[in-house]
Amino acid sequence: MKKFLKNAKPAFAISLAILLAGCKTTQAPVAEQRNTKVEMVEYFADNALGTPLAIVQHPAGIHKDGITYVSYQGPFSDPYVAAYNHKTKQWQGPFQAGESDLGRMGKKKPDNHGKPTMLIDDLGYIHIFFGGHGGSKEHGENLLGNYNSGRNKHVVSKRPGDISEWEELKNISVFGTYNQAIKMDNGDIYLIYRHGAHRSNWVYQKSTDHGRTFAEPVSFLKHKPHETKNHHDSWYVWAVKGENDEIILSYDYHVCPNDTRARGHIPVRHDLYYMVFDTKNDTWRNVQSEPLDIPVTRQIADAKTLVARTGGDDMWTFNGTVRLDQQGYPHLTINVGKDVGKRWGGSKQARYYRWTGDNWTGGNLIYNKVPKSLGSEGDFVLKSPTDVQYTLAYQEKNKDAVVADFYSKDAGKTFEKGQELLRIPDVTWSISSLIKDAHADARILVAERPKGTQWRRIYLLGDNGPIKRAKSEALVLKEADKVQFK
Ligand code: ZN
Repeated sequence: MKKFLKNAKPAFAISLAILLAGCKTTQAPVAEQRNTKVEMVEYFADNALGTPLAIVQHPAGIHKDGITYVSYQGPFSDPYVAAYNHKTKQWQGPFQAGESDLGRMGKKKPDNHGKPTMLIDDLGYIHIFFGGHGGSKEHGENLLGNYNSGRNKHVVSKRPGDISEWEELKNISVFGTYNQAIKMDNGDIYLIYRHGAHRSNWVYQKSTDHGRTFAEPVSFLKHKPHETKNHHDSWYVWAVKGENDEIILSYDYHVCPNDTRARGHIPVRHDLYYMVFDTKNDTWRNVQSEPLDIPVTRQIADAKTLVARTGGDDMWTFNGTVRLDQQGYPHLTINVGKDVGKRWGGSKQARYYRWTGDNWTGGNLIYNKVPKSLGSEGDFVLKSPTDVQYTLAYQEKNKDAVVADFYSKDAGKTFEKGQELLRIPDVTWSISSLIKDAHADARILVAERPKGTQWRRIYLLGDNGPIKRAKSEALVLKEADKVQFK
């Protein structure tokens, strides 16, 4: 791991040097010193690559004891980790936490499927899961699905709470992709992911020793050929801790095509589902507490776990998130948009659903002023069963990228726009799920995606907008990193 350190920018040392240099010019008035000493910028790093963040790989960041730890995809699709101390207002990192196969396969565009997922165990060690996109046959036989590329990896910080040095633990399946890491109240860790490429089961691996070892994968959602139609049943899951010993899961259905002649392998996805994993009793149930046998098939999912049909064949979906309200009722979002013939269908926008105690309701847009040709996406917290704060990234007609808080007083039926956290002209964006246990000043990660480059600036946003950083510290992209992409 020594070479990781060599690549990592010792930002903390540099910031100290700046402070010391500032001390030498104490003759100048304080205000003038401030003006000349340090130029501040809104981003904390400029070496994020491709689509460096997503809702699905989560959490991307965690707040613990006054420090917000964040991760994102950087050069060579490697995981990068930075930390912000809310008390001293100092940034540390980013440090390269591991080495991804995905960025070293000669691909013409970044492979964004192995973005980092973070967990902090009960001993304070920081874990990062990354680098997987289904694995390949050279890694062995995938008994739970098919292959694509990459290798799912797990690294852990060498010391608790210290992001500067990492070591690899070879204790998870290389076939995993879309990692989601959940720690229960008793310290048990559940790593949830898809065990291979599209035609693979979704599984969990459980650790009872702070992530040092994991039990074998257990399948909970089944891939299989559709019994009548010419496609394969496939899934995308978003999971998070629920009440007590439970994990709650939302998911949508991927119509994985057999016939790819017309448009190639298109990401047709529909509908929204919900179920619950009781980790104490190792049982699964739907929202009405009917038991479910795993792995859940499409037939069982349709009969027992359906939240909503999200539109006709031409309305495609993309995962949102799920949270419980104070009554224990799930609220969910899913991003829905019309297929307009693009490779990915078309832009999708966030819609809100919830369980009333008797039935599923909702489906309204969070923000109906976003043009249909542009997208919106985000995550939310419930202040009460009816009070929702939804942090939404979207683009305006003039192509400004905006991240803003939206508020609902009627349990997600209608939303009103609150404060803007960030506005950048003429870029698209990628956004994380909410930071786990977030500090109010650091709730979500956003990367701006300017045209004509694969390199992104990345921002940590909260109640006061972006957490700023000295420009000299935030410029971390090195010439050597650019060999792969311009
Ligand atoms: Zn597919």
